[in-house]
Amino acid sequence: MLYNDSMFYSNGLYFKCTQCSACCRHTPGIVRLSERDINNLTEFLGLGVNEFLQKFCRSIYNPQGYRSFSLIETAEYDCIFWDGGCTVYEARPVQCRTYPFWSSILRDQKSWDDEAMSCPGIGSGDFYSAEKVNEIRKQYEDEYYD
Ligand code: SF4
Repeated sequence: MLYNDSMFYSNGLYFKCTQCSACCRHTPGIVRLSERDINNLTEFLGLGVNEFLQKFCRSIYNPQGYRSFSLIETAEYDCIFWDGGCTVYEARPVQCRTYPFWSSILRDQKSWDDEAMSCPGIGSGDFYSAEKVNEIRKQYEDEYYD
């Protein structure tokens, strides 16, 4: 994907996670898993891939239409790995590592502002230049869209 000077964040963006856990809890959602995410998590947890998939994952279809996996949630819609905080933080998926610099959120100013309604870390804290934002955005896209 090409990024150009017309991007709304050409002067950079501000973000710092306040660790409120709002993005990890209380709302149903998808945490997509790439092959690398699964390898990192199985290594971290000391589990085989099949056991990990059976215990912690559900099948989904990604935007390209092929089968993939997402983490499951508790009955309260908490991430299955949330327990007073992220229990797999060192091995968390790229989706979690690159938030909020996802293509869908960076589509335009409105998408960014809308996301800020549910994430108090958006719009203040650390400065990210447009180059840095694009670097993180590319990590997300390379992980899930190639
Ligand atoms: S909602 Fe935002 S501030 Fe809260 S834990 Fe998630 S990324 Fe951090």
